[in-house]
Amino acid sequence: MKADLHLHTTASDGRLEPQEIVSLAKRVGLDVIAITDHDTIDGVVPALAAASASQSLTVIPGVEINTDVARGEVHILGYFIDFTDRKLAATLQKLRDSRRERAQKMIAKLGKLGMKIDWQRVSELVKEGTVCRPHIAQALFEKGYVGSEKEAFDKYIGHNGPAYVERYKLLPVEAVKLILDAQGLPVLAHPADITDLDELVPKLKAAGLVGLEVYYGHYGTEIITRLAEIAKRYDLVPTGGTDYHAFGDGLEVDMGGVITPARSVEQLFAMASKRSLELLKQP
Ligand SMILES: [Zn+2]
Ligand SMILES: [Zn+2]
Repeated sequence: MKADLHLHTTASDGRLEPQEIVSLAKRVGLDVIAITDHDTIDGVVPALAAASASQSLTVIPGVEINTDVARGEVHILGYFIDFTDRKLAATLQKLRDSRRERAQKMIAKLGKLGMKIDWQRVSELVKEGTVCRPHIAQALFEKGYVGSEKEAFDKYIGHNGPAYVERYKLLPVEAVKLILDAQGLPVLAHPADITDLDELVPKLKAAGLVGLEVYYGHYGTEIITRLAEIAKRYDLVPTGGTDYHAFGDGLEVDMGGVITPARSVEQLFAMASKRSLELLKQP
């Protein structure tokens, strides 16, 4: 079984439409994919529709929620979510609205610093997805205010930058609970860079975390071994995915380029069907 459980579409910051992601998945011979856009489930229904006639490809409805921690970012993946869940949709909408408002405030701050970028241009860069800081960085780069998108973060829009603005975010534990409430299976995404991983994992496990993304992007053997040990210690399913966005920059791993153990995929499916059976039994 070949699976890629971490894919982005134009519903967030990916470059391919959900339908195109499905076609590509078939072309590269995948059996299972998960659509995991940032703070949105808008890509799920089109992807499910595109794959509905396929005998060979299964699409897992998913999401990737960006959460707030003191240092860096923690992302929580949710698999097999009920994409009709109202609370999930409303919370994700609030997260996206706050991103847009934040982006507008940051553009105003940049204006006061003498860097004029248009909201319209930033919106164009987004296409259908969510406004993110990389879009603002790209707009600054286009106008020649910075030599690279990284410079935009380092000098202006990074955490301590003069044009940085806070936004509404969930704590990692809150994202885990939100996913559980929507019948989903929460998994900690790309955990290698999380500084206090040893403290975070038991906390999230207690809240209901079921998996750890052990196989990811460019992770090498050493990282994978360390993460696999953590997954084993806390009885978490070691999942895998590329985080493919179709950026076309030659830096990212191609779709299907990360080996996810078939056993892990089977475990997730078993958990999901157990959960739906439990729901059926509820009065
Ligand atoms: Zn992520
Ligand atoms: Zn991602």
